[in-house]
Amino acid sequence: MRILVTGGAGFIGSHLCETLLKDRHEVICLDNYFTGSKRNIYHLLDSHNFEVLRHDIINPIDIEVDQIYNLACPASPVFYQFNPVRTVQANVLGVTNMLELAKRTRARILQASTSEVYGDPQVHPQKEDYWGNVNPIGVRSCYDEGKRVAETLMMDYYRQHQLDIKIVRIFNTYGPRMAINDGRVVSNFMVQALKGEEITVYGKGQQTRSFCYISDLISGLLAMMNAEQLTGPVNLGNPSEFTILTLARKIIDLTGSKSKITFNPLPFDDPSKRQPDISLAKNKLGWNPTVEIDDGLEKTIHYFKQVLDEF
Ligand code: UDP
Repeated sequence: MRILVTGGAGFIGSHLCETLLKDRHEVICLDNYFTGSKRNIYHLLDSHNFEVLRHDIINPIDIEVDQIYNLACPASPVFYQFNPVRTVQANVLGVTNMLELAKRTRARILQASTSEVYGDPQVHPQKEDYWGNVNPIGVRSCYDEGKRVAETLMMDYYRQHQLDIKIVRIFNTYGPRMAINDGRVVSNFMVQALKGEEITVYGKGQQTRSFCYISDLISGLLAMMNAEQLTGPVNLGNPSEFTILTLARKIIDLTGSKSKITFNPLPFDDPSKRQPDISLAKNKLGWNPTVEIDDGLEKTIHYFKQVLDEF
């Protein structure tokens, strides 16, 4: 198949391109490089099945494709809040453009949605039928509400134009190729620990998250894209939940760092807990994450060591 991956030079996108190429598909990687990086796809450039396009999905594009993975959107709070209007546009104009492309080519389209659609959840763990607790006017709204309206557009194109759509809600994911300056917790803590700098825990570190290793997420994305009769939304994430303070201590242990933990102010609207209920993915896709947190963290630390050595 010829498969379009928007955001293909990003953290998740580059792993997805790599796996699709291994599966012998033709892959078109589209990116505007706002948060994606050429370094992530450099090793794929020799493949004759791989094509790269510099493009921003907020502008229409017309190419022949069989499947579309729409991953194009900054996903780290630091970056999606840098130009919030643009973040909304990626999710409204960008998603509409991708849906129009799917409509013309009759391609199957998968939208990368997010656990952020649940906001600061009052139901725990979060199941797909929970409608969420989202601040519509806060600093995270450009992403949260953007991704919510992207889901709405997907469902409306499905009902109105019978498009073959798929929605996955991705929970916190980590692994090699996260940007070093991404601003997210795993990359921040690892870089700080490896450089011997203070580990910046926000708030008291009692907020929780559940972290999924990248290879598990990729197998979930492929399973969903290739499932029949399932539009979703389907949660993809690892249900093993712990506090941010525990994560900080784990990373200090695994790196053998002498860094000390420091407590900084908690960002506004920071969700206090988050854990996916993945029964739907287990039942409908036979999917279950398998990588233990310590193994995943070790691999990611190894990656960041290499990157820091290059500087
Ligand atoms: N966080 C932290 N220190 C950091 C970066 C993040 O304590 O240097 C916290 C952040 O406040 C949040 C959690 O870690 O509670 C996860 O943040 P991240 O930005 O990785 O993703 P989110 O799940 O908030 O989108």
